[in-house]
Amino acid sequence: MRNEDMLLIPGPTPVVDSIYDALASETRSHTDPRFVEIYKRAIDQTKEMFQTDGEVFVIAGSGTLAMEMALVNTVAAGERILVISHGYFGDRFIKLGEAFGIEVDVLQSEWGERVNVEDVENELSKKNYKAVTITHGDTSTGVVADLDALVPVIKKHGALVILDGVVATAAIEEDMSKCYGHPDYKIDIVLTGSQKAIGVPPGLAVVAFNQSALEIRKQLGRIPAYYTDINNWIPIMNDPSKYFATPPVNLIYAYAEGMRLVLEEGLENRYIRHTAYGKAVRAGLAEFGMTALAEEGVAASTLSCILYPEGIDDAAFRGELAKKGVILAGSLAHLAGKAFRIGHMGNTTEQMLEKAIQLIGQTLNESGHKVNTQKAIERFKEIMYANV
Ligand SMILES: *Cc1c(COP(=O)(O)O)cnc(C)c1O
Repeated sequence: MRNEDMLLIPGPTPVVDSIYDALASETRSHTDPRFVEIYKRAIDQTKEMFQTDGEVFVIAGSGTLAMEMALVNTVAAGERILVISHGYFGDRFIKLGEAFGIEVDVLQSEWGERVNVEDVENELSKKNYKAVTITHGDTSTGVVADLDALVPVIKKHGALVILDGVVATAAIEEDMSKCYGHPDYKIDIVLTGSQKAIGVPPGLAVVAFNQSALEIRKQLGRIPAYYTDINNWIPIMNDPSKYFATPPVNLIYAYAEGMRLVLEEGLENRYIRHTAYGKAVRAGLAEFGMTALAEEGVAASTLSCILYPEGIDDAAFRGELAKKGVILAGSLAHLAGKAFRIGHMGNTTEQMLEKAIQLIGQTLNESGHKVNTQKAIERFKEIMYANV
């Protein structure tokens, strides 16, 4: 890999050479049949990944644009949504809803914990909700949502399930054909960005709508959007030789290669690999007295929010690691300075994660925090290779 740094933040994630090569291919006209064929393939690959019978949208933008696209095409001003929030990115749906005049109710968990399903059920039985948003993995806390518990409850009450998969898609199961306890209980919308568990550089918003969600869009008529109105994109997604707004040609090349790698590895294999990554990284770091904010039962397999032991300066610690080529992220809101976040997803490898644990141990020792690096590495390997 030609990368100098190991980008172990919750996105962007490490980019492999074949994706860089694709990105650096000749920029062609967006109507050139050679590009159109690749765009078409990227759309088909995305449909295959989500197992959807509906439409997918792969357009220029970031994860936040994908969130907006999901919401604005299904919920009108004055209608109500319920936001299930496990942290900072869950809360982003509140702001989005407010921006479009949508009535927003929120169920927020303590950071590091999950919202109770009983509370969701209770809230849904009180009011009429058009949609419920779930953040699959909340990137601020490392908490993963329990879809098996949430989806049936939400669908039973007739609301749309909007799933923010930005830090989960292609690493944690998001199968839109899956029935959650009833033939009609399915995830309606999944949205993501290119730069997290898919492992492509940032710049693409990816959204999938099932038939129910498409039907809701039809019922809405005019919506307060133009670029993100799916009605403007459906013709393009069905025939990418058509024009609505210029697609990011080179990013689409990169994305098609990223998708090829995802499908070649196989989704099941990716779920297993990421599960092992999450457990092994957390077990290794625990040997340094660094514990995850989220307990193992609710922790995401793609990234972890790790609390510092006493006496470690966040900026100095991460600065030292950055000099050694390991890029970690700080924490958000009230956890800033008290925890760091480490991504372990996408095209990250077990070798990179092992190296990161070694360098974290080295950095701790250099700053006078005596830790047993060898033991942490052994623990990492034990879990990593036992779980696969
Ligand atoms: C990163 C992230 C977003 C925002 O994505 P951007 O690409 O930064 O706009 C939204 N939701 C989750 C869960 C994320 O991790």
